Amino acid sequence: MSEKSSVKQRIDTLTELLSRYNREYYELDEPSVPDSEYDALFRELQQLEKKNPELATANSPTQKVGSKPLDKFDTIEHEVPMLSLDNAFSEEEFEAFAERVAQRLDRDQPITFCCEPKLDGLAVSILYEEGELVQAATRGDGYRGENITANVKTIRNVPLSLAAGAPKRLEVRGEVFMPVAAFNQFNDQARARGDKVFANPRNAAAGSLRQLDSRITAKRPLHFYAYSLGVIDEQAEQQLPGSHYQRLQQLAAWGLPVNEEVKTAATVAECEAFYEDILQRREQLRYEIDGIVYKVDAIALQNDLGFVARAPRWAIARKFPAQEQLTKIIGVDFQV
Ligand code: NAD
Repeated sequence: MSEKSSVKQRIDTLTELLSRYNREYYELDEPSVPDSEYDALFRELQQLEKKNPELATANSPTQKVGSKPLDKFDTIEHEVPMLSLDNAFSEEEFEAFAERVAQRLDRDQPITFCCEPKLDGLAVSILYEEGELVQAATRGDGYRGENITANVKTIRNVPLSLAAGAPKRLEVRGEVFMPVAAFNQFNDQARARGDKVFANPRNAAAGSLRQLDSRITAKRPLHFYAYSLGVIDEQAEQQLPGSHYQRLQQLAAWGLPVNEEVKTAATVAECEAFYEDILQRREQLRYEIDGIVYKVDAIALQNDLGFVARAPRWAIARKFPAQEQLTKIIGVDFQV
């Protein structure tokens, strides 16, 4: 077999495997492999496609976000697509990202980043009109998500109305997750009843939120943190601060829950210190995270940088090492 055809065969195998894993993870909420294994296969496919662009297809899992919405739900079209994030798996990869950003922007001063724990739940979009929650959707395939309005309304820390002065029209994006203690308690009770238990808090959150009967969702201990804005009416947009971090504080002032760990970092070294600090405290946090998200803080610079196929150029997720490697790195025993 020629080298080209064996590369093509490997690309086909990876495409098939990743498509199956996507279906298990996004549609069935039942992954069969750990995220680290998925991430390694995804990266292998990305690298093969980069080296052999003639073998890459628009249909590849590396070009897509999430998975199509489940048929059992009505769907909602996202006015602004809900994308994914590129990943960095080491300090060097994060530094290379920061350098690419600086080069693209042609800047020699350091760029301020907003640093945020990467919550391990699922992304949702929540729309408020005249200060009232009117619609909520999952990310779905990035363009169309599942209508989960009734379910999101049952999440206790999601406000049904915003504070006075909130925009006429405001779409908030954030993560729905199940805190670890609540997840353990939920699974203990399910086990005692002989019911199905969830593999991890992420699947518990996804399975709980995508229920047809919102009374079931209401019984699940879900929580929400806002991490960005989607659409907003023009008048309110003009009054927004130009910093992503300040915008999050504005969301908090309107009554939306924002993670108190979020901070800005003025240099790459400060970004790395944030990563180390959160990694050390990972097990004490009341929710699961799988890394740190860095976002260029200035919205004007974000707009200059724009997007590629499935992710913005102005953000990256620096993933934590897989849990089995963690033991070696910081000398603490973790449950895997
Ligand atoms: P991602 O999880 O790498 O990054 C994007 C997501 O991060 C967003 O959609 C949002 O939900 C989340 N997020 C959390 N905190 C955030 C914050 N502060 N700001 C912005 N976003 C934040 O990308 P993805 O496309 O959702 O999923 C891909 C990942 O899912 C893979 O890297 C893999 O780890 C996992 N996955 C696993 C399997 C499996 O079979 N085990 C299958 C598919 C995907």
